[in-house]
Amino acid sequence: MDVEQIISDLRTLYPQNFFYLRHDPFYVLISTVLSHRTRDEITYRASSRLMDKFRSAQEMAEAEVSEIEELIKDVGFYRVKSRRVKEIAEILMYRYGGEVPDNCELLLELPGVGRKTANCVLLYAFSKETIAVDTHVHRISNRLGLVKSSTPDETEEKLKKILPRSSWKDINELFVQFGQNICRPVSPKCDICVLCNICPGLF
Ligand code: SF4
Repeated sequence: MDVEQIISDLRTLYPQNFFYLRHDPFYVLISTVLSHRTRDEITYRASSRLMDKFRSAQEMAEAEVSEIEELIKDVGFYRVKSRRVKEIAEILMYRYGGEVPDNCELLLELPGVGRKTANCVLLYAFSKETIAVDTHVHRISNRLGLVKSSTPDETEEKLKKILPRSSWKDINELFVQFGQNICRPVSPKCDICVLCNICPGLF
C-alpha cells in the first residue's frame, strides 16, 4: 500500500493540525493527558484555558485541584485528570526543576503517562523521531492493512519498521483527525472516505 499516497490524500482533507498550537514541552504533555477520550477541539479549548492561567509546572503545582477542574470541566474524566495534572506538575518540580524530561522512560514514570503520551511529547515538543500510536492510529493502521497487530505498542513497533521516517509525524496527526471524523471505531463512513478505493476494509 502506498503510504505516501495515504498521507497526501489525508493532508488534503486535513491541511491543518490545530491540536498543538504551542510546542513547549509542558503544554504538549498536559494537553495530551487531557486529550484522552476527548475530542480534539474540546481538548484544545480546555488546554488553552488551563495553560493561559497556569503557565508553568510551578504554577500548576501550586494551583488548587478545584481551580483546575473548573477550567477543564468539559473534557472527559476531568476530575481524575485535574488531580493527575497537578500531580505531574508537582513531580516535575521536585524531580526535574520544573522541566519536562526528553526521555521516554522518565516520561513513562509520570502518572497517567503511557507510551502514546510520552511519544507525543517526544515528537511534538522535542522533535524526536517516533510514532505516537493511540487508539485511532492502531485501528486505522489495521483496517488499511498497514499492520496486523493486537495492541497499540505492537502497532508502533511494526509501523516503525515499514514507514519512512519522513511520515512518522504525519501519521499521528492525520489518523487521529481521520479516526474521529471518518474512519470511526463504530460505523466508519466508508461511503464518503477518500481512501475507499485502496482500503481493504479489514475489520
Ligand atoms: S474505507 Fe472505511 S474502513 Fe477503510 S479507511 Fe475509509 S472509513 Fe476506514
